[in-house]
Amino acid sequence: MKKFDIIIIGSGLSGLQCGYILSKEGYNVCILEQHKQIGGCLQNFTRDNCIFDTGIHYIGGLDEGQSLNRYFKYFGLMDKLKLKRLDNDAFDVISFGDDATDYKYAMGHENFSETLAQQFPKEKEALRKYTDKLRELCNHFPLYNLEYKNLEVSEMHFFSENAFDYINSVTADKKLQNVLAGTNPLYAGIPEKTPLYVHALVNNSFIESSWRVVDGSSVIADSLAEAIQAQGGTIMKNAKVEKFVFENNVLSGVELSTKETLYADRFISSIHPAKTLEMIDEKYLRKAYRERVMNLENTTSNFTLYVVFKPNAFEYMNHNQYFYRKDDVWLSHENIDKDWPYNFLLITPASSGSEKYADCATIMAYMDIKDVEKWEHTTIGKRGDDYLEFKKQKAEQLLDLVEERFPGFRKTIKKYYTSSPLTFRDYTGTVGGSLYGILKDCNEPLKTLISPKTKIPNLLLTGQNIILHGVLGVTIGSVTTCSDILGLEYLVKKIKNAG
Ligand SMILES: Cc1cc2nc3c(=O)[nH]c(=O)nc-3n(C[C@H](O)[C@H](O)[C@H](O)COP(=O)(O)OP(=O)(O)OC[C@H]3O[C@@H](n4cnc5c(N)ncnc54)[C@H](O)[C@@H]3O)c2cc1C
Repeated sequence: MKKFDIIIIGSGLSGLQCGYILSKEGYNVCILEQHKQIGGCLQNFTRDNCIFDTGIHYIGGLDEGQSLNRYFKYFGLMDKLKLKRLDNDAFDVISFGDDATDYKYAMGHENFSETLAQQFPKEKEALRKYTDKLRELCNHFPLYNLEYKNLEVSEMHFFSENAFDYINSVTADKKLQNVLAGTNPLYAGIPEKTPLYVHALVNNSFIESSWRVVDGSSVIADSLAEAIQAQGGTIMKNAKVEKFVFENNVLSGVELSTKETLYADRFISSIHPAKTLEMIDEKYLRKAYRERVMNLENTTSNFTLYVVFKPNAFEYMNHNQYFYRKDDVWLSHENIDKDWPYNFLLITPASSGSEKYADCATIMAYMDIKDVEKWEHTTIGKRGDDYLEFKKQKAEQLLDLVEERFPGFRKTIKKYYTSSPLTFRDYTGTVGGSLYGILKDCNEPLKTLISPKTKIPNLLLTGQNIILHGVLGVTIGSVTTCSDILGLEYLVKKIKNAG
C-alpha cells in the first residue's frame, strides 16, 4: 500500500508551490497530475521552433525587494529564471479603434501617474489618487507584503468595493476611465461585480515591475519539480484523480482513473473547488456548502491565436498591446456577444533568438464557452471538421481586428494555430474553460471567497480559486494553505529569511 504524508492534486503553480514548501519541511509529499506534462497554466508548447506560453505571459513584482521577488527567492527561482524586463515607460500599451493614441502604463507608481498625466494633463491629481489607492489596498493584504498578521475584520469592507465604480469616481474623463481599466483581460472584469481589490492587486504588482520569462514560463514548473524531488517528494504524471476514498468516515486516499488507490494522512486539492467536490461522496459534505460552491459563477474563457512569423517580419514588442474596438474595456454581454471580437491582447514572447524581431505572437480575445457548446462532448484532436472550420473563421475575424491596429499584420504570418475555451477546459480541468476560475463578486464577497479549509478536517484547498488568480495570487494562496499545516508566523519567517 502506497502511503504519503500529503497528497497534492494538480501540478500547476499552486500544487508545485505547496509541494515545494511541504517537502522542504520534511513532509513526504506526492503530487498527482492528470496529464503527461506538469505545470498546468505554466506549460509551454513548441511549434515551428517557437515556444508559446499557454497561461503565464508576464509576471509582476520581481524587482529586488518587491513582493514576488521575495517569494521567488524562497522557492529558489530567482537564480533559475532568465527574465526580460518590459519597457520601463510602456510595459502595457492600451489603444482603441476610434483613437490613434497609444496610452502607456509606466513602471513605478510616480512614473505611472506622470506618464499618463502627459496625455491627461487635467487629471494629474486623479492619477496620483488612483496609484495611492492601489498601494493602500495592497497594504491591507498582509501576505502581499510578507507579513503574518491576519486580515482585520474592520478591513473587510475592502472586499465590497467595486472596481468599475471606483475608477469612474476618480475621474470623469471617459477615456481615462477606460485606460485605467484597460488591462481588464488580466482579471476578466465585469462592471457590476469585479471587486476593486482584484483590480488593485493585479495592477499594482505589474506597476511595481513587469517581466517576461525568456523561452517560456515552464522553467518555473521544471525548477520547482526538480527541487521537490531533491527534497524527497514524488511527482506522478498521467495520474488523474477521480474519487476521494473514505475509511471509517475518515478521508484516507484518492482513486486514480487507473483504479489504483493512493493513501495519505492529508490532502490538498489545487484544482477547481467544484471539481474537487464532485469527487467526494454526498454524505461527507453539507448540502448547503456543496451547492454554494458548485453554483458559483466562473470567469469567462478565451480564444487564442498562436502566430508564427516569417523571418524578420514583425518587430519584437517589449510591451503588451491591449486593443479595444471602442471606448469600453469592460466585459459585458453587449461587448462579448455582438461584433466578436471586441478586443485583443497581443504579446510577443521573449526568446533567446533575435532581440529585434519576434519569432511568434500570442493573441487572445474573450470567448464564452457557449460559443463552442456544440462540441462540448468531444476531446482534444477529435472535435471534427466543423470545429476546425469554426476556429478558422474566428481566427480570421480576430486577424481583421488585429489589422486595425497593425496594418499589414497578415502579411507577416507564416502559420498560425488556435485554441478555444474547450482547449482550456481539457488542459486545466477548469469549469467551462474559465480563464481565472471563480468570479469574485463585490456584492457577495464572502460567498465568492473560498476558504482553504473544508468541512473535511484533512482536506485543504489551494490554487487560483481561493484568494486570487495569477502568479501573485496563487503564491499567496499556496502560502495560506500551507500555513494551515505549518503555522503562518513560522512559514512567513522562513520565507523572509530566504530573501
Ligand atoms: C490564458 C491565460 C493567461 C494568463 N496569463 C497570466 C499572466 O500573464 N500572468 C499571471 O500572473 N497569470 C496569468 N494567468 C493566470 C495564471 O496562469 C493562473 O492563475 C495560475 O497559473 C493557476 O495556477 P493553479 O495551480 O491554480 O491552476 P492550474 O495551472 O490550472 O493547475 C491545475 C492542474 O491540475 C491538474 N488537474 C486538474 N484536474 C485533475 C485531476 N482530477 N487529477 C490530477 N490533476 C488534475 C491540471 O491538469 C493542471 O495541471 C493566465 C491564465 C490564463 C488562462
